[in-house]
Amino acid sequence: MTFSTLKLSLPILDAISELGYETPTAIQKKAIPAILSGRDLIASAQTGTGKTAGFVLPLLEMLKGDKPNGERKRRAKRLRALILVPTRELAVQVESNICQYGKNLDVKSMAMFGGVDLESQKQQLIDGIDILVATPGRLLDMAHQRALHFDELKVLVLDEADRMLDMGFIGDINRIIDRLPEQRQNLLFSATMPDGVRLLADTAIDNPIEISIEDNRATTPQISQWVVSVDKGNKSTLLSHLIKEYQWTQALIFIRTKHGAAKLVSQLEKRGIKAESIHSGRSQAVRTQILTDFKSGKIGILVATGIASRGIDIDELTRVVNYDLPDDADDYIHRIGRTGRAGACGEAVSLVSMDDFKRLCAIERRLDQIIDRRRIEGFTTVKELPDSNLNFVSKSTDKKQSKSRDKKNKDKAFKGKASKGKAPREERNSNTRTSDTNSHKETSERSSESSHDSQNPWLRIRKK
Ligand code: AMP
Repeated sequence: MTFSTLKLSLPILDAISELGYETPTAIQKKAIPAILSGRDLIASAQTGTGKTAGFVLPLLEMLKGDKPNGERKRRAKRLRALILVPTRELAVQVESNICQYGKNLDVKSMAMFGGVDLESQKQQLIDGIDILVATPGRLLDMAHQRALHFDELKVLVLDEADRMLDMGFIGDINRIIDRLPEQRQNLLFSATMPDGVRLLADTAIDNPIEISIEDNRATTPQISQWVVSVDKGNKSTLLSHLIKEYQWTQALIFIRTKHGAAKLVSQLEKRGIKAESIHSGRSQAVRTQILTDFKSGKIGILVATGIASRGIDIDELTRVVNYDLPDDADDYIHRIGRTGRAGACGEAVSLVSMDDFKRLCAIERRLDQIIDRRRIEGFTTVKELPDSNLNFVSKSTDKKQSKSRDKKNKDKAFKGKASKGKAPREERNSNTRTSDTNSHKETSERSSESSHDSQNPWLRIRKK
């Protein structure tokens, strides 16, 4: 199958051909015709599968100028398609894809996110926008200030829905949905389909086509994964050693907290290694500049919290390092999926201390594979990491699973009541990720934009 069989018009085909896209990916083959048919869609697809083009290309096709000369009149402060994303970085990334794919069309797009001046974004909205890519918090601010109106909106896209729920955006999402016209097309993309996403889909999306693309990436990644057992207090020394010994010129290093990120950068610098960090404590302008410098190679070692790194899209990223393992095995897959793209070889290295062992087991179970262990001379651990067992189920995971089963049952009972009264406590909290390592004193970083809706967000979901 080629892109031309997908009923995309010439200006779009020319733009993607210039980017070197020859054949549509699995998600694109399924999503593009489904979206062009006008139906609602739920797609489960990971980052790296080409999902962005999967919804942007048909959006462009549907919204492209209909006058022969491509010129179009836009109504002030109106938008025709809204793409909600969890982070600023992803907003910038998706909008830049829209510009690339739509470069031969008269389609006006804009990325809108918090942490930057409101006024300049308001100015951009004044003449109307065709496709707005936005984070939920800033979008609501703008709507409250009547800087934009949704009456001409035709399509809503929820991108990385699972991540938006993890970050506590469910309340904002529902408040946004409440403001949209009833008649619209809804597209939901999510790497995973936990109960919260299912509930959102059930209530906000109408008779959707469902597609699922497991791990069928745009290019087959060749990722060499290995772990080193290390005592917690020795991690930064080991990392410095690895960078120097293996002459790593490029690495994206994931760390749990923003304080940890800043501390690690100063530890590396003390050992003569130049590094930078991105996390929610840094201004948007600084984060954007650092990302540009990392992409261009000016910065080689970048320390990032999971949230700040969301949406980093670098085709030639050679290495990711998990300084801290993520709580969720799917996040590990997301992280390592950033390397080894475009047929290149990638490396994913994890520094694992004893308190990370349960997470390692969960990841290996999810991958159904034991990750290669390496010993680094001079770095013996006080306590050797045990061999993990692919069938290992920690007590807390066990509890979590039975809780999830209970919750599914409650969800069923709850659905009918969604618009009536108070939701049970578990549903109210189900947008908060549970971790099987609650013992951690430091809390992992959440977006500065994240608004944990403690006041029963699920009540705001209305059945269409
Ligand atoms: P995404 O899953 O949207 O983050 O896309 C992952 C990467 O795949 C991006 O770098 C895209 O530029 C690239 N990509 C998307 N579609 C194709 C395609 N059909 N052929 C080759 N590369 C693609």
